Amino acid sequence: MTNMPGSQPPIVNAMTIDVEDYFHVSVFDGVLPRTQWDSLESRVCANTDKLLEIFTEYEVHGTFFVLGWVAERFPDLVRRIAAGGHEIASHGYAHRLIYDQTPAAFRADVRRAKAILEDASGRRVNGYRAPSYSITPRSLWALDVLLEEGYRYDSSIFPIRHDRYGIPVSARGPYAIERSVGTLVEVPGSTTTAGPLNLPIGGGGYFRILPYWWTRWGIARVNRIEKRAAVFYLHPWEIDPGQPRLRASRLSSFRHYRNLDATEGRLRRLLTDFRFGTMDAVLEETHLHSARAAAALPYCW
Ligand SMILES: [Zn+2]
Repeated sequence: MTNMPGSQPPIVNAMTIDVEDYFHVSVFDGVLPRTQWDSLESRVCANTDKLLEIFTEYEVHGTFFVLGWVAERFPDLVRRIAAGGHEIASHGYAHRLIYDQTPAAFRADVRRAKAILEDASGRRVNGYRAPSYSITPRSLWALDVLLEEGYRYDSSIFPIRHDRYGIPVSARGPYAIERSVGTLVEVPGSTTTAGPLNLPIGGGGYFRILPYWWTRWGIARVNRIEKRAAVFYLHPWEIDPGQPRLRASRLSSFRHYRNLDATEGRLRRLLTDFRFGTMDAVLEETHLHSARAAAALPYCW
C-alpha cells in the first residue's frame, strides 16, 4: 500500500472489469461481421476465471460489467462471478456504440442485458457501462433510457478528448445527473489533470500501453490530493497474450495488442500498491448510493 504509517487507512478504489471477448472490441467493428462471433474461439470464460483467481489471491472484490451476449451463452460464468462476492453490472447486450443506435434499439439492448444478468445471478443489476464509453453529447438521451429501465448508476462518460468518446468538460469525480425522469449517479473512469487537459489514468489501453508508473502515480494523486477513490477498469482479453490475432488498422492493432503479455504482472503490482473494492464501495464512500443525497449534489456540465 502506498500510504505512510500513521496516516489514514488507504482509500478503497473501484476495480471494474468489462466482461467481453477479444472479438467484441469496437476496434473490430466493420472489420469482423457480428454474424461470425459465434464461430470464433471464445476465451472469455478462461480469462475471466483467471481474473477471479487473481482477485481471490489478493482478497479483492470488483464490479463486473458483463456483456449480455456473453451472459446468455455462459450463465455459469455470471454465477461464478457473483458467487465470488463481486458485483454484477451491465455492459449492454450487443456491444453497439450508443450514438450509432436509435433510442428504441438502445432500450431493447439494455433491457435484454439486465434481464439476462439478473436471471443468471439472481441479483438486481444497478450499474451500466457503455461499449467504448459511448455516452457523448450526441447520446445523452441514453441517460433517460437507463433510468427508465431501472439502472441506478452509470460509468460511461469519460471526461476526456478521444476519437470515439468523451465529454472533456464533464466532472472528473462521481456526481449526480438530474433528468426529468429521475437522478442517475455517474461514476467516470479516473483521470488526472495537466493544465486544461484531463488525462486518463484508470486502466484499459492506458494501463497496458503507458508505463506502469503512470497509473500508480495517477491513482496515488487522486487518493492523496483529491482524497477520493479512483475507478480502474480492465478487460479479460487484456491478460491473454495467446488470443487469436484479428486484422485491423495499424492504430487499432497497436491499441489492442500492445503489452498483452505484461498486463497480468502489472495488475498484480497494482493490487499490491492499492486497495480495491466494488463500485458499491465507491458509491457508499461518496454517499451517492442514496438517491436523496445524490439529488442534493450539483448538476455537472
Ligand atoms: Zn466493451
